[in-house]
Amino acid sequence: MTTREALHLRLIVGSQHLYGPEPLQEVERNGRAVANALSDAAALPCPIAFGGVLTTPDDVLRACQDADADPGCAGLILWMHTFSPSKMWIAGLSALRKPFLHLHTQFHRDLPWSTIDMDFMNLHQAAHGDREAGHLHTRLRSERKVVAGHWSDPLVQQRVGAWARTALAWRELRRLKVARFGDNMRDVAVTEGDKVAAQVRLGMRVDGYGIGDLVQRVAAVPDRAVTELVDEYQATYAVVPDLAPGGDRHASLRHAARVEIGLRNLLDDGGYGAFTTTFEDLHGLEQLPGLAAQRLMADGYGFGAEGDWKTAALLRALKVLAADGPGGTSFMEDYTYDLGPDGPRVLGSHMLEVCPSIAATTPRLEIHPLAIGGKSDPVRLVFDAKPGPATNVSLVDLGTRFRLVVNEVDAVAHPELPRLPVARAVWTCRPDFATAAEAWIYAGGAHHTVFSYDVATDHVVDLGAMAGIEVVVIDGDTRLRAFRDALRFSDVAYALRRGFGD
Ligand code: MN
Repeated sequence: MTTREALHLRLIVGSQHLYGPEPLQEVERNGRAVANALSDAAALPCPIAFGGVLTTPDDVLRACQDADADPGCAGLILWMHTFSPSKMWIAGLSALRKPFLHLHTQFHRDLPWSTIDMDFMNLHQAAHGDREAGHLHTRLRSERKVVAGHWSDPLVQQRVGAWARTALAWRELRRLKVARFGDNMRDVAVTEGDKVAAQVRLGMRVDGYGIGDLVQRVAAVPDRAVTELVDEYQATYAVVPDLAPGGDRHASLRHAARVEIGLRNLLDDGGYGAFTTTFEDLHGLEQLPGLAAQRLMADGYGFGAEGDWKTAALLRALKVLAADGPGGTSFMEDYTYDLGPDGPRVLGSHMLEVCPSIAATTPRLEIHPLAIGGKSDPVRLVFDAKPGPATNVSLVDLGTRFRLVVNEVDAVAHPELPRLPVARAVWTCRPDFATAAEAWIYAGGAHHTVFSYDVATDHVVDLGAMAGIEVVVIDGDTRLRAFRDALRFSDVAYALRRGFGD
């Protein structure tokens, strides 16, 4: 589902003609060396192309227009190796639509105390050249990421890499198509939202489908393909005997496989990276597509239950961000609490649709009744999520703007749940349960979230900056009184921003 191979970021280096041709040649050599080093760094998710040394307003405008026009370019990294008078950047940066990171670095790491002379000083002056650049970025009200430090420092590379991952996620969100089977469910408010505003602000597009379109695709799946997929299930999961070939309920597993193939075909033919279902609108399907949703999520598709197109889109974007991460990323719902002496802990789950990328051990493929919905018993993967630090992220529509809410949590071990036939995660919240839950509720965060071991708060903050939407963070430092004040100030700030023309 991810095609990173063809994507890149572009490092462009600012200078001017004041220094003569030889220093500019050295600036270019150094720029290439930094681009190559970042490309080779394990923390970077894609190559860093060298976009040249820019010394005139025309250079800058052309570089920005080229970056915008190149579908493989996810964003720019800017570095002022020498002094680059910022008025030459106004036209280009005013036109630029892709995100940029301002890398405040210098070529040499250590100051050569015994040999430094004025030539060296003139060549390596990012210390003030980058301040000139930053002044203009602030003056233009440009959303950007600033990272300071030597380019060889693993921490610097890790921060640039985190931003780069987010740029890839933002690129994906801009082009994302979400297939929505059925409408919003019942009278739920938080899964609603302004799809026109989402397309204007985030780029993503939401296409409605009748469930009949899916039923038709499912019916057309050949038996041979179903058999092959069932074989794959048996090789991948611990399949309960009832569902295995020859078992009493094997037909239910074959139906689930048929749904997975039909759904995947429909998504792939239409270029959809995410989808939603609604368990109240399943006419013509025997079961709620649980296993299909779980397996498609594991392959990188975004998913939102009950018509939740915002969470589906967010999950796809964060799957792209997390791509090869070691942890896993899933659709999630705050379900129920343990408020006893061993708690407080949150039990997160869903009726069926939790992504096996977060599983601690091999999932069990089981079949159980669904207490609601009135359909045949659906098959599903059942597992516990692995312990470790994670984030819960929610995207909500406040009517006048979108807001991302992120809470840092810690998934924890928990007692056996022998009678709970769904995948689940159990976590504690930072800074503590009451503060986190109260802050989340004050912020209007949803019960549906993206739960991830790979997505960190900084990623979400950067994504919000790229999209120009609000991010509120609930972490170990959150204090409720200050948090509530921040929400109030934020309301004012976003109302004023409309006056600034943002
Ligand atoms: Mn739900």
